[in-house]
Amino acid sequence: MSRFWSPFVKDLVPYVPGEQPKLSKLVKLNTNENPYGPSPRAIAAMQEEVGDDLRLYPDPNGERLKQAVADYYGVQPNQVFVGNGSDEVLAHAFHGLFQHGRPLLFPDVTYSFYPVYCGLYGIAYETIALDEQFRIDVADYARPNGGIIFPNPNAPTGCLLPLDAIERLLQVNCDSVVLVDEAYVDFGGQSAIALIDRYPNLLVTQTLSKSRSLAGLRVGLAVGHPELIEALERIKNSFNSYPLDRIAIAGAAAAFEDRAYFEQTCQQVIASREQVVAAMKALGFEVLPSAANFIFARHPRHDAGGLAAGLREQGVIVRHFRQPRIEQFLRITIGTPEQNQALLAALGGLCQPA
Ligand code: PMP
Repeated sequence: MSRFWSPFVKDLVPYVPGEQPKLSKLVKLNTNENPYGPSPRAIAAMQEEVGDDLRLYPDPNGERLKQAVADYYGVQPNQVFVGNGSDEVLAHAFHGLFQHGRPLLFPDVTYSFYPVYCGLYGIAYETIALDEQFRIDVADYARPNGGIIFPNPNAPTGCLLPLDAIERLLQVNCDSVVLVDEAYVDFGGQSAIALIDRYPNLLVTQTLSKSRSLAGLRVGLAVGHPELIEALERIKNSFNSYPLDRIAIAGAAAAFEDRAYFEQTCQQVIASREQVVAAMKALGFEVLPSAANFIFARHPRHDAGGLAAGLREQGVIVRHFRQPRIEQFLRITIGTPEQNQALLAALGGLCQPA
């Protein structure tokens, strides 16, 4: 720690991202990337952009991408915000929409970036325990708050909250922003974007890192009432008026336009997920119902830390959180059929019957 640090920096507890190993031979099932490549149309659009006008600044508003998202969801471009990964979009939302005298509410267990942003922006928060089955019960959120945020499906559990439950929450919570973080919604969920016209306090964020397989490009978005979007634009323009470069705008817009490729690869991931779930249950695992591109599972007789280490020795990396309540779980990303086979073979060896 340097004496030049401000007390504010001294107290920050930053987010620890999942490992990005240097070895390319590993079966990498630890950070929920898509095992299939991005849309060929997205790649072509990015290549074209590289050969085009990189000399020039990008469109500060990313209009081309906003239009593609608006067309996809049947909303107006002024209901869409785009940013450098949904993590950045979330940062702006925390900064601009959750700073009130009352605490922000989010589940315990959930995406571990939320408390980090609370620390960064000085936001008080209260966590609300998941129920016995690791699900969110919206009735628990009917209490004074300065905002509510949760992923749907939740991370790292993969459990989905149905749209009617979200609507019930919105009906009782109209004085603060409800942010639904839909990083994984395309693998079996229903987007709450369908509700934005009726609930001006609803903001939905999404990412192109998962279902559109562009984690390396860093593009995320938010959809909501134009007034919420305007708050995000104000923050963005006070901070980094070009969050997206020309290549990202072109590639992300083309990825949204290529609906057929997107739907086909999501279906492949969902089908593989169901196969992995069945095979893991056959090995004795308890697997939480997942609507995401990963599963969350524990074995009644094998320690999760030991399993993660054993898998790693065999070249398979998964995520293990040393965190109360979930320390016996592994979070495993769904890979290609070959990767899933490697995972299951390794688990089969590690989970011999007692
Ligand atoms: N929300 C959730 C729930 C996530 O798991 C992630 C991925 N770590 C993100 C948001 C951020 O995704 P990205 O910044 O790649 O868009």
